[in-house]
Amino acid sequence: MSAPKQHKIVLDESEMPTQWYNIVPDLPAPPPPPLHPGTHEPVGPADLAPLFPMDLILQEVSSERYIDIPDEVQDIYRLWRPSPLFRAHRLEKALGTPARIYYKYEGVSPAGSHKPNTAVPQAYYNAKAGVTKITTETGAGQWGTALALACSMFGIECEVWQVGASYDQKPYRRMMIETFGATVHRSPSELTQAGRAYLAADPNHTGSLGIAISEAVEVAASEPETRYALGSVLNHVLMHQTIIGEEALLQFAKIGETPDFIVGCTGGGSNFAGLSFPFLREKLAGTMNPHLRAVEPASCPSLTHGTYAYDFGDAAGMTPLMKMHTLGHDFVPDPIHAGGLRYHGMAPLISHVYELGLMDAVAIGQSECFAAGVQFARTEGIVPAPEPTHALAETVREALRCKESGEEKVILTALCGHGHFDMAAYDAYLGGRMTDEPMSEERFTAALATVPVLSPQAQSGVMFS
Ligand SMILES: *Cc1c(COP(=O)(O)O)cnc(C)c1O
Repeated sequence: MSAPKQHKIVLDESEMPTQWYNIVPDLPAPPPPPLHPGTHEPVGPADLAPLFPMDLILQEVSSERYIDIPDEVQDIYRLWRPSPLFRAHRLEKALGTPARIYYKYEGVSPAGSHKPNTAVPQAYYNAKAGVTKITTETGAGQWGTALALACSMFGIECEVWQVGASYDQKPYRRMMIETFGATVHRSPSELTQAGRAYLAADPNHTGSLGIAISEAVEVAASEPETRYALGSVLNHVLMHQTIIGEEALLQFAKIGETPDFIVGCTGGGSNFAGLSFPFLREKLAGTMNPHLRAVEPASCPSLTHGTYAYDFGDAAGMTPLMKMHTLGHDFVPDPIHAGGLRYHGMAPLISHVYELGLMDAVAIGQSECFAAGVQFARTEGIVPAPEPTHALAETVREALRCKESGEEKVILTALCGHGHFDMAAYDAYLGGRMTDEPMSEERFTAALATVPVLSPQAQSGVMFS
């Protein structure tokens, strides 16, 4: 009798990694620092103190390679971690590919995505610093759900500004956020100066992530015991997500495989960095040689169509300037179904790694992504969130290229969440009502014109001491 096929590669709770990985000290050049929006000088820890607790600020600027995961955080992680690595035997068969496809599944978390990997430590460090309330933004609601959950576990109040379009169209995530005890506002709201300005211009404004960030930042900065939390983009967020890749390394070691091709979707870049950076460490050390590829939506292509420049993280221009791939902080993407990928910028660390030539990127339209998502659901039995269907579309493309060439590549893809709250999107796809709006060059050009013009020294970031 032959051995049964292995479908999932699991780790015991006792095998869960106990440190996060910070890629910065291993990169051939340091990433450019964030700049103060007024002075254009590099921001120091004190500038960030009104928004974040000091432990997180120190992680943001850290050059330590490994940072211990606090016991209290590990204890909560173990509610769903280590997460499973699956071999997609049935998808491989359906595609007729010689490639071996693996996916690391983060939909097993209580929020249904990778977001609690950073929400839990962010709530922990805020609670430790005596913070009593955290404000944040959310698009489709994944991040708001994760932070509401984490805040409820540490007894912190949580206030969420949700992008208006999602607030109107996706009531179930709002209800889940409220079930975890947080308050949700439709953004733009009457509660902030920034929100009132957008509402004055358009009383029916459908909002954007950039606007919701402006509102949450404004409130955090004006209340002494309140801080702000961001679900992606920042260095410390990407670092918290590396638990995903550290686990995957152990899981691949168990079966004696190494990935040749690692693919993930990128909104702000955190799930892709979380899976791929530990493998990139191994690549830089010469122990393996995976190719890294990010996938972004055709209607919000910051890596493949944006410019690499200092820009604001929010729409109103209140955050520090970050050097990143950006479509312009004014850019309001079309209301595609992958709400988590509708952000004008890309994580400075991902942008830097991209500029160093250590990864590449493609942009794919949503219809092809949902076709891959449906094929995945029908073969592997998991309905993916709209965001990771982008990674699955590229996985399918690569597997079909392997079919042509006969290459037995090992593909690893980030299945960063399930789509149980996104069934209306699947309904639109299955009902033939999903469109791929072509993006006009004029729209890109108009938004790019809002990227601030800095002096050449500030732009190159060399003023950093
Ligand atoms: C938030 C989210 C994303 C986009 O954020 P990244 O920081 O790029 O990972 C992607 N997928 C899911 C399921 C999300 O919740």
